[in-house]
Amino acid sequence: MKTEYAVAAGAADVPMVQARQRLVVIGNGMAGMRTVEELLKIAPELYDITVFGAEPYGNYNRILLSPVLAGEKSVDDIILNTREWYRANDITLHAGDAVVGIDRVRRIVRSASGIEARYDRLLIATGSKPFIIPVPGCDLPGVIAFRDIQDVEKMLAASRDHRHAVVIGGGLLGLEAANGLQRQGMSVTVVHSSESLMDRQLDASASTLLKRSLEAKGLRFAMAARTTEIVGDERVTAVRFADGREIEADLVVMTAGVRPNIALAKEAGLHCERAIVVDDTLQTYDPRVYAVGECVQHRSATFGLVAPIWDQARVAGAHLAGAGHRRYVQRATATKLKVTGVDLYSAGDFIGDDSSEDLVLRDPRRGVYKRLVLQAGCVIGAVLYGDVKDGAWYFELIQNRTDVSHLRGRLLFGKTLCEAQA
Ligand SMILES: Cc1cc2nc3c(=O)[nH]c(=O)nc-3n(C[C@H](O)[C@H](O)[C@H](O)COP(=O)(O)OP(=O)(O)OC[C@H]3O[C@@H](n4cnc5c(N)ncnc54)[C@H](O)[C@@H]3O)c2cc1C
Repeated sequence: MKTEYAVAAGAADVPMVQARQRLVVIGNGMAGMRTVEELLKIAPELYDITVFGAEPYGNYNRILLSPVLAGEKSVDDIILNTREWYRANDITLHAGDAVVGIDRVRRIVRSASGIEARYDRLLIATGSKPFIIPVPGCDLPGVIAFRDIQDVEKMLAASRDHRHAVVIGGGLLGLEAANGLQRQGMSVTVVHSSESLMDRQLDASASTLLKRSLEAKGLRFAMAARTTEIVGDERVTAVRFADGREIEADLVVMTAGVRPNIALAKEAGLHCERAIVVDDTLQTYDPRVYAVGECVQHRSATFGLVAPIWDQARVAGAHLAGAGHRRYVQRATATKLKVTGVDLYSAGDFIGDDSSEDLVLRDPRRGVYKRLVLQAGCVIGAVLYGDVKDGAWYFELIQNRTDVSHLRGRLLFGKTLCEAQA
């Protein structure tokens, strides 16, 4: 509560207690809490803040679940905001209590445990749900996703009692899951529907190099394979493919993509397409309701990496603070694979089109591959394998749309050489 003094005639010096506005946050994840942090930087006294989180923890760094699975970090290492932080900032946290309904007319949210919280402003940050391929057997014990601490705990438990893991999906998440399970002593096969691993971030050449180096670490791959059934009675025992082949499995990890978690917003009548539609201020079609993170759609884009989410949090935090000068602008993103010993960096538009050209450097003996995509004198995309030290510099060139025409002949050799001869 904030105490102010009434100044109206006849009421001089009478203390008047003015209630703060109420902000309710649904989703105690990376986007929601980052937005609250941004808000607190600007207007720490503006709101009474209540946060509901489906997971029974404070906010943690989801990105670092991969090193936790690989045994390189503990759960304690990845906590971003402890319960003490919530207390210190006067935030009411309902952890392990999901919101099950939003009443936009009465401006109330209701949780699974029956708590009702009234809001003046609502922030929805419900993230994504893993996509479980709907094949027969997908609900068998031993079939899980890779999204939260509980999934990691299940994988670690399985690695103690079982031997054969199959990871369905050869994208970033799948390869990090496979690496982690292998580090925990399991024999791991990655099943991927196309011929190229990480095909949303890598071109075919980089993807081939990546596969080779993961094979050298002991991972196995079933490429261009379509899973048709998860086999088992009481627990998964095998995965079957369209061509009739089967591979043994006592753990199946599905990493075949995510879907924005928008059921709650839809039920509340908020405008959704693929996700909750927001404008450049992260406001939904209801001016009292904001949304950030993987549950939102800005223009036609949805999101799956934290860099754009941090930008969204800065904008939403400012608007919630009443300092509405920022606008969210989509920017190029960059990706790294968190597998120890594999150096890989991908940024921007690495495919290009008829109006772009490629600069390529291949050094098979050193296991180095670099490809830069140029358009109108600017770098618009980069794929680096084996030598990624210039990744951040190329990314800066992409983001700033720097004219690199004068560096064209040296660009692939990196920042140091380009600057030395500038
Ligand atoms: C293993 C792993 C590795 C990753 N690695 C990278 C990486 O290297 N680089 C990168 O940029 N990104 C990475 N990501 C993606 C990144 O973690 C996400 O983009 C980011 O966490 C999205 O933030 P979010 O807040 O939108 O969703 P989340 O962090 O998922 O938070 C949403 C929260 O809302 C909660 N929730 C949902 N519904 C309700 C409800 N009804 N009531 C209350 N709470 C609810 C959920 O339980 C969850 O805690 C990785 C993700 C995973 C899983």
